[in-house]
Amino acid sequence: MRHLNFNNKSKRKVYACLIRYLLDEAIDKLNTLVPPAVRQSQESQLPEGHTIHRAARDHNSLLADQKLTVLSPQGRFTEGASRVTGRICINIEAFGKHLIYHFDNGEALHIHLGLFGKIRKQRLPAAEPRGAVRVRLVGNTHLIDINGPNICEILAEHEFMDLINRIGPDVLRSDANPTLAFEKIKKSKAPIGRLIMDQAVMAGIGNIYRSEILWRQALHPETPGNRIDQQTFNRIWEDARALLTIGVKHNAIITVDGARASSRRYRERVNIFAKEVCPRCKGKVRRFEISGRRAFVCEVCQPLNYRVK
Ligand SMILES: [Zn+2]
Repeated sequence: MRHLNFNNKSKRKVYACLIRYLLDEAIDKLNTLVPPAVRQSQESQLPEGHTIHRAARDHNSLLADQKLTVLSPQGRFTEGASRVTGRICINIEAFGKHLIYHFDNGEALHIHLGLFGKIRKQRLPAAEPRGAVRVRLVGNTHLIDINGPNICEILAEHEFMDLINRIGPDVLRSDANPTLAFEKIKKSKAPIGRLIMDQAVMAGIGNIYRSEILWRQALHPETPGNRIDQQTFNRIWEDARALLTIGVKHNAIITVDGARASSRRYRERVNIFAKEVCPRCKGKVRRFEISGRRAFVCEVCQPLNYRVK
């Protein structure tokens, strides 16, 4: 009987591995089928910028200043991996939702997780890859596995510069220039709820932070960009920076002042996202869509009353 149980357990393990692998392969297929326009709109979807900045911070402490072995267990990134393997990783940084590993030969590994990508870290010795691991980065003490990213490529220095020039100022970066974002917002008729999530305008804010920041700043998400004055923009920028900084620190979205990070349910740490009732006025929260993504507004606390110029 014990023998049989062992066999069943092994079988389950094999099936679980197989299913995981097939799922990752399907995700890779999905990523290649997504047309560029949709891929661009994925920019404004999960994960939010704080998770990528948190990953950059963690990976810096685990891998920076080390000679890395870079592999593609799945086989789809073998050539790219061979360009940087054996090189020293100088540092790892995030620009919005883009994760960049800089190597001492001037090249960079560029990762964008898209909707389905996953990062796993692991202490050495290395275990068997779980699922279809596109790229594995092995350092002295830890390894990082990345499955199903939307983008996984090696960039030469000028290609890296092109990339960061396309990304709007990132609220989490100390070198960001918020004026660049305001210049775009004040010229646009698009709703502010769309603009602050457009990674080419400003980088870092995802779907949950979008609703939360605008509620905290008493601003209706459908207010056109060209009705936003400098002062209002400054409030959005500062609040985004403060909230995402908390997000990086706790690796969790916390937008309720004084809320604890220990709570597992994000609903207890947000004010309005996916809520029925506004915590400020107890009125009903309206749910609608901006560019196909859920948005939430309290029409009482965030009236659409911009002055017509
Ligand atoms: Zn309200």
